[in-house]
Amino acid sequence: MSEYVTESITTLPDIKLIKSCEFGANDTVNSYMRRLCKVWLKNSNISPVEAGTYLRSMSIIKSVLDILSQGILSLEGVQKKLIDQDVTFRRLYLDGGDKVCSIVLENLLALITYSKRPLNNSEKLIPMLYLQVQLWQRELSGILRYFQKDPEFAWRHSLKKDEDRIALPMYFCRECGASGWLSRRLATDDSYCSDISTINKAFMDREKKMVLLNIESKNHEAVDEYVNENAINVTHHVSIKNLREMSESDSDTLRVRVCSRMTSTRNGNQRFTTVCPECNSDAICKIGGRTFTLSSVAISQVLSSDFDHAEEKDRKILVFTNSVQLIRQLSMKQELSDFFSVKSMQQYINSLDKPVNVAALQEGFKIYWKEKLSEDNVQHHKRDKAKEWISRKRRVNLCC
Ligand SMILES: [Zn+2]
Repeated sequence: MSEYVTESITTLPDIKLIKSCEFGANDTVNSYMRRLCKVWLKNSNISPVEAGTYLRSMSIIKSVLDILSQGILSLEGVQKKLIDQDVTFRRLYLDGGDKVCSIVLENLLALITYSKRPLNNSEKLIPMLYLQVQLWQRELSGILRYFQKDPEFAWRHSLKKDEDRIALPMYFCRECGASGWLSRRLATDDSYCSDISTINKAFMDREKKMVLLNIESKNHEAVDEYVNENAINVTHHVSIKNLREMSESDSDTLRVRVCSRMTSTRNGNQRFTTVCPECNSDAICKIGGRTFTLSSVAISQVLSSDFDHAEEKDRKILVFTNSVQLIRQLSMKQELSDFFSVKSMQQYINSLDKPVNVAALQEGFKIYWKEKLSEDNVQHHKRDKAKEWISRKRRVNLCC
């Protein structure tokens, strides 16, 4: 360790400067790293190799490595030990508190991932230190929201038998982000349904008596385009105890906006449409209802993010899932990985200078890669699969 890291720089940046080193809402990976390099390494354009040399001369890095060489620790554990063992860090903790300390650790980890060193004095660069990142993602299947004014959530399987509140499944709009409760109310019912299985099934079957409920407000009223003779757009007072429609409001009722729209199928039956009352896009889905798609989008996004500079074949991911569909989608991605990946889609999208629709995106993507790759490399069956993949995963395109 003492050969690898020297301790010629023992000071830390000023607290004010450290506070400016959080990843902000408008930051890109590049702007964030440039700022970190400026504050920590005194040069916003420092090369990865120079950054590595600089980091190896910092006493805080030596302290971090000393602590990490003792075993696996949580971030809080590392911070606690650093406060105990590193005088400069302890002073920073006393002056700036927990928040500043956690920014410092995040900054150091980010700088470590940026830093490189030459392999045996060759031109090949390897990471200065290897950093392993694990992302734990919990699917939202079974999540419910209590029927009350203030947002509060519950897992379906953890609802108590004697629960005195009603929790309902939720919808959300993929286009505008509107969200609310899902329920159903038959013509003969005087209350909205609170049975979760019944509501879920009715939503899956697009039963015509499905309704979208929301806290009453101007924002949740249906837009003009949504309203027609097959649509409901009304306000009701609903009991929070039994979801019964009440004639007036009191402390046990919630004033809700009720929206729903039907459409006629070819054989004349009426079905609930998944059109959003707030933006009129056909984009309403149940939260937790399509988790396999969302999970695979999230995983694809992680794999294609700017944080990972590794070649596609060197990227690894370990997935535990109870979703059969997710496994199928991911294995399909694996099969295509030597030809098509989300990253290659991202590369194509980056080359565009104007918005395009999905059909144009699909065509353009094929032309773009056909030009880039020689004909020998493009196997037709793979291209067809890629096409299928694109059409199945329209959402990926929209997320990129
Ligand atoms: Zn919407």
